[in-house]
Amino acid sequence: MEGSVGQTAEFTLASISELSSSSSSSVASSSPAAARFYTDSGVAELRFHQQPESDGFVNVDLQSAQLFKLGPVYSVCISEGSDTGEEKLYSKGVNLQFRNEAESKAFHCVFEKRKKDLAEQGNSLPNGELSTSKSKFDEKIEPSSAKMYFHYYGQLLHQQNMLQDYVRTGTYYAAVIENRADFTGRVVVDVGAGSGILSLFAAQAGAKHVYAVEASEMAEYARKLIAGNPALGQRITVIKGKVEDVELPEKADILISEPMGTLLVNERMLETYVIARDRFLISNGKMFPTIGRIHMAPFSDEYLFVEIANKALFWQQQNYYGVNLTPLHESAFHGYFSQPVVDAFDPRLLVSPSISHVIDFTKIKEEELYEIDIPLRFIASVGTRVHGLACWFDVLFNGSTVQRWLTTAPGAPTTHWYQLRCVLSQPLYIMAGQEITGRLRMIAHDAQSYTIYLTLSAKMWGPAAEQGGILQTSSCKLDLKEPYYRMSQPQPYAMAQDQQPHQLIQTQDIPIQSQDLEEPELIPQPSPSSGIQLNTLIDNA
Ligand code: SAH
Repeated sequence: MEGSVGQTAEFTLASISELSSSSSSSVASSSPAAARFYTDSGVAELRFHQQPESDGFVNVDLQSAQLFKLGPVYSVCISEGSDTGEEKLYSKGVNLQFRNEAESKAFHCVFEKRKKDLAEQGNSLPNGELSTSKSKFDEKIEPSSAKMYFHYYGQLLHQQNMLQDYVRTGTYYAAVIENRADFTGRVVVDVGAGSGILSLFAAQAGAKHVYAVEASEMAEYARKLIAGNPALGQRITVIKGKVEDVELPEKADILISEPMGTLLVNERMLETYVIARDRFLISNGKMFPTIGRIHMAPFSDEYLFVEIANKALFWQQQNYYGVNLTPLHESAFHGYFSQPVVDAFDPRLLVSPSISHVIDFTKIKEEELYEIDIPLRFIASVGTRVHGLACWFDVLFNGSTVQRWLTTAPGAPTTHWYQLRCVLSQPLYIMAGQEITGRLRMIAHDAQSYTIYLTLSAKMWGPAAEQGGILQTSSCKLDLKEPYYRMSQPQPYAMAQDQQPHQLIQTQDIPIQSQDLEEPELIPQPSPSSGIQLNTLIDNA
């Protein structure tokens, strides 16, 4: 992100002009401009940039700056000069014209909050020095990870990939439109708005105003898309910045977001969603989605196991151009088994009914997402070799009119999240009826993902079992950030006509409303050519 170091919020203005006594004013025009708040190197600044940016900018020292409202969309910002020694003698002023009243309000709100923060810091630090207080996001996320992450989402092709996941986008559309009552006349915040699509859906459902918060450069495209849909766009304000940092002029009645990554939690955006709840939502406000569930079941897949084990065979060569590669075989072997496998698999590979872990977005504390510890217990339905744990997730839109689930289960229409499998390098031998126990621990790391620790155990079968619980145990450690995208079958998993849905998938606990039974006509179904592609960088929300 260009100029992103220390930049914490950005606004687009209809025009700016400098109130200057000298004729050499650096900015004086009525073309669009940007206002950016910076907190670099201990100095809190507000910069007004003319568009195009090459035309220079005006720096305003926030500490001395004052902002006056002249009208619904007009304000003036006055401060001491901060550029050169000479200019410091004079105060400078910038006339601001906002594009609409909501954006003016939002700007004033951030301005006041920054001033307040500065005053508090000034009180607590000697010499009146400013501390560069880190935001909640910056405190826990490695800057290089954040940079790559927002660079990725700043590109239209990746937003298109999500928009072309019709299961995903169609379910969001249905959930919003079928629950108009939750949106009509309400203030909505779109948490991580991307292209702005969910904001536009909320506006279609009658929202009074939508604040679309997006940290990446995609915010500019969202503005363009929204401006091109003026009937809806006049009720949407795009705010460029991190959810953790931006200020909004009013509280929201409902949050909408698509914060789900692979295995639900990858990308650590659920934490952002929960922070948005605590910062922006009225008490008892609604959240779309409302809850998420991670589903898990042991699976047996000899082909997958052999495929992974064989990848390391390369390092078994003793004479590779005269070099013995075997010293690295073990490391390579463990390396391959540390990658979670992402693909669409046949649900008949599951060896027991699944269990689930519920995350209630309306209640969970942000810190509770730093470590997720799930005890596992299954009863095998068949005798086989267990090669690991299969996982998928679903989320519920708990609307006042209709409850809708978005599922990524095996056997259900495939989404761009597919499913995820953790493969054990030591399979377990189990008999039908045998108990499989274990633990799935996920520890968040600063690269916006999780380290996964999986252990599965089964009591030995036969006489040994009676003699005191001899266990077969197998464990593995995986990095959710480094998945193996196994798209050998380009076709999403499709169920044969004569095949019954797999009994091991528990769907009966999903309350289905009558409306759920009919697909709304407005939702296009994915065509074989719709190209649900998978990027190689990160799995996307
Ligand atoms: N809502 C859009 C995009 C979903 S992808 C849609 O449904 O199509 C998630 C988006 O959230 C990305 O564009 C990403 O840049 C943004 N995002 C992630 N973390 C964020 C944060 N902390 N603050 C603001 N935006 C964030």
